[in-house]
Amino acid sequence: MTPLTIGFIGLGNMGAPMATNLAKAGHKLRGYDVAGTTADGVKPVTSIEDAATGADVVITMLPNGSILRQVAAQAIAHMGAGTLFIDCSTVDVESARNTSEAAENADILAVDAPVSGGIGGASGGTLTFMAGGSAGAFEKAAPLFDIMGQKAVHCGDAGAGQAAKICNNMILGATMIATCEAFSLADKLGLDRQKMFDVVSTSSGYSWSMNAYCPAPGVGPQSPADNNYTPGFAAELMLKDLGLSQQAAELVDADTPMGALAHALYHQFVEKEDGKGRDFSAMLPRLAARGRDA
Ligand code: NAD
Repeated sequence: MTPLTIGFIGLGNMGAPMATNLAKAGHKLRGYDVAGTTADGVKPVTSIEDAATGADVVITMLPNGSILRQVAAQAIAHMGAGTLFIDCSTVDVESARNTSEAAENADILAVDAPVSGGIGGASGGTLTFMAGGSAGAFEKAAPLFDIMGQKAVHCGDAGAGQAAKICNNMILGATMIATCEAFSLADKLGLDRQKMFDVVSTSSGYSWSMNAYCPAPGVGPQSPADNNYTPGFAAELMLKDLGLSQQAAELVDADTPMGALAHALYHQFVEKEDGKGRDFSAMLPRLAARGRDA
């Protein structure tokens, strides 16, 4: 692939290793982060304008939708017609659609492409991308997804990538809670946790939460539970994604009772208890320590 000039904005836990992987593959990277963060192989620049001017592609990896909207407006103002804007942050569907529209109004191709795979996937180049945008925009972005990840699914028009991401994580949040409460009930019924795993992981209660990321220490494959619930995937990130799913559900009038309850529980855990900074599977010790009335 001909080397591209890529402006990368947001060099945090995820963005920095993603930018480094693109640089390692031979692209010319300019990176900007408001916190002054840098990344290996990436030329640091001091403004969004410097990252975007003359770039073939601008990629953003930012905390939330309102920051994305501000950054995108500035970047788009300095990008040329026919270039490509890729947002990899997890944001609300409306911000993704709004950003895509702003890009298209300036004749810039746009893709919303949130990821799954976490920090390990970002540094190992094994992320999964869920992409929304036109077929042409996806086709242009695909070789870059191949460098940063191992799979990219074109989910549909603008916002479809974010829709897929929040629906997946709504299932994950609810399933993790269900798995944790079942372990907690099993404990109180005197059932050994290993036996519980042996049965459920090969029965109809199986799931990624049980089989691949078991919340019980010493049971199943290695997971954050075996490391005192050090994240992994932090409870506050799950709270963020569940919040986005409920925001989207409000917008389109979808009834999501399990998602709403999962959101309320992670909110309680992160904001009112000791969940912040712990893995989202630490819902197990939280539930196991409680009785029916708390
Ligand atoms: P992070 O907080 O480490 O990185 C975000 C970076 O954006 C920070 O370095 C911050 O300084 C920078 N930033 C904020 N405002 C800016 C601005 N106006 N201009 C330039 N830079 C700005 O977060 P992260 O863990 O890298 O996550 C980034 C995104 O990826 C989030 O949307 C998150 O939900 C999503 N995500 C994270 C994970 C994970 O495991 N960490 C997994 C999947 C998706």
